[in-house]
Amino acid sequence: MTNPSESVGAGSSSYDAIFIGAGINALGGAILLGEAGWRVLVLEKNSTPGGSIRTQPLTLPGFHHDIGAINLNLFIGSPFYQEHKEALARKGLRFIVADPSVGSVFEGGRFLGISTDAEKMAQSIAEFSPADIGNWQNWTSDFQECAPPLFQLFGSPAPETETPDNPFGNLDDAPLSLLPKLKALLMESPRSLLSSRFESEEMRAMIAAWGLHLDHAPDIAGGSFFPFLESNIDALQGISLAEGGSVKLIEAMTARLHDTGGELRSSTMVEEVVVENGRAVGVRLENGEVIKTSRAVVAGVTPSSLLNLTGDQLPAPIIERAHQWRYGPGTMMIHLALSDLPDWRAEEARQSFYVHIGPSLDYMARTYREGVTGRLPAEPYCVIGQPTLYDPTRAPKGKHVLWIMVRCVPAEIKDDAAGDIIGRSWTTEVRDAFADRVLDKIESYAPGLRDKILARTVHTPLDLEALNPNLVGGDLVAGSAHLDQFYGNRPFPGHAHHALPLPGLYICGASTWPGGGASPGSGSLAAERILADNPISRQT
Ligand SMILES: Cc1cc2nc3c(=O)[nH]c(=O)nc-3n(C[C@H](O)[C@H](O)[C@H](O)COP(=O)(O)OP(=O)(O)OC[C@H]3O[C@@H](n4cnc5c(N)ncnc54)[C@H](O)[C@@H]3O)c2cc1C
Repeated sequence: MTNPSESVGAGSSSYDAIFIGAGINALGGAILLGEAGWRVLVLEKNSTPGGSIRTQPLTLPGFHHDIGAINLNLFIGSPFYQEHKEALARKGLRFIVADPSVGSVFEGGRFLGISTDAEKMAQSIAEFSPADIGNWQNWTSDFQECAPPLFQLFGSPAPETETPDNPFGNLDDAPLSLLPKLKALLMESPRSLLSSRFESEEMRAMIAAWGLHLDHAPDIAGGSFFPFLESNIDALQGISLAEGGSVKLIEAMTARLHDTGGELRSSTMVEEVVVENGRAVGVRLENGEVIKTSRAVVAGVTPSSLLNLTGDQLPAPIIERAHQWRYGPGTMMIHLALSDLPDWRAEEARQSFYVHIGPSLDYMARTYREGVTGRLPAEPYCVIGQPTLYDPTRAPKGKHVLWIMVRCVPAEIKDDAAGDIIGRSWTTEVRDAFADRVLDKIESYAPGLRDKILARTVHTPLDLEALNPNLVGGDLVAGSAHLDQFYGNRPFPGHAHHALPLPGLYICGASTWPGGGASPGSGSLAAERILADNPISRQT
């Protein structure tokens, strides 16, 4: 660890807090501290901030592709947005609502999806199961009851004591009569819950498809809450996109950070947390420079990176737990520049922002199992985003981009479940062969797609990790969100409240409570915690 004599001038810390990484959580936390009058510095290794939220011209000039997050519903629903709506709008952030927002395609050109038009939805559901019209109404009225305690849970600090995989400590205010429903939503697998709630397999699959945006495959305990929340939010308000690409959100947050006096240094890699007398007091950069801070170092990184940054400074049980941190399945992203939108056989899919290919619970369970056991899935599960349907600014006039997220794609290839791809590492040939399998699958629902492709860029799980080191093995939420790594266990039992057992050191980001997603949830909770630990804030 650092020799104190190497530090920049004694007592010279010109910052109150230093954030490592400029992901959405660090930016959100830095803004909140800046607004409290703190002098804040955010250090980012990449040349631009945003981490998994960046928009780049990945194919041809004039085509803007979100490298990661595209659906900004979690941001819209965050307390941070409610507090900063006007400030961010003044910085040029504008949202576009995509509605109808999401649905699944099935054999025979069929589609079942979600829109804010209740009548249209009922008609669509009736084609699969008349009984599910009433079941859907019950599902949405459960949302009215259960959403307040669930939002309260996800917006509150996790318990400080060790409460392994028990979320109920933070549901104290929920009416007793609701607890069985909340328990089912928080603890049951999607298959178990949805099978008890809906008659048709298509309805179950359409809702369960949201689970695989995380690593909540149909049979994963605790995997029901995200499909429940997203399907209901989509029915209430569609899906929100940032006009021009998700980067606009990051640009607006960065501008807000500057307004508070905060600084952002990009192309700046932090190599070490500097510890003096048992307290985190600054960081050492790749070039050897040391930057001191008087109150907090906030690491927006994974537990694995935290270990690299802190060496042996953390207590042994935390080091052990960080070594055991488990990442979820990898992801492949395929970005297409298109001459026209796909001609989905299902007419309704042509209007839907997201189209899921995951036509049954068994299909998704199989794909997940193959992916997590290192096999290239024979039948990929895909989320196809059609942003230019709603936001034409992302492509030249009349042209389109397609955002294709393929989940459960292993970073380390042990085998090909279809037996066709021979390579066992992500060579260009393997990458292209697997991307072609994905396009074949999409073509089976939208014939002629290939003829519309002007250019394509494919990111393997390893490419995603190279774009953002938090995406270990292409895991898009920086650590499995299964029960053993969620609630009071994220990232470490007893330390889900963002303060680490090294004074002055905090952690935020997707690996921490309340988990991944394009929302500054953990950054906001970390800022709250830091302010509580430092009751006398600096005045502006
Ligand atoms: C392909 C993909 C699609 C997604 N789609 C959606 C979606 O549609 N909707 C949604 O809600 N969520 C989505 N997500 C998830 C969401 O984008 C992430 O969970 C969220 O953005 C993570 O934010 P974070 O604060 O953890 O920081 P990250 O985005 O992980 O950023 C961390 C930053 O820290 C930097 N960094 C790391 N180590 C260092 C270091 N030592 N020194 C300096 N800098 C460092 C990294 O370069 C990076 O910029 C998606 C993610 C991916 C990858």
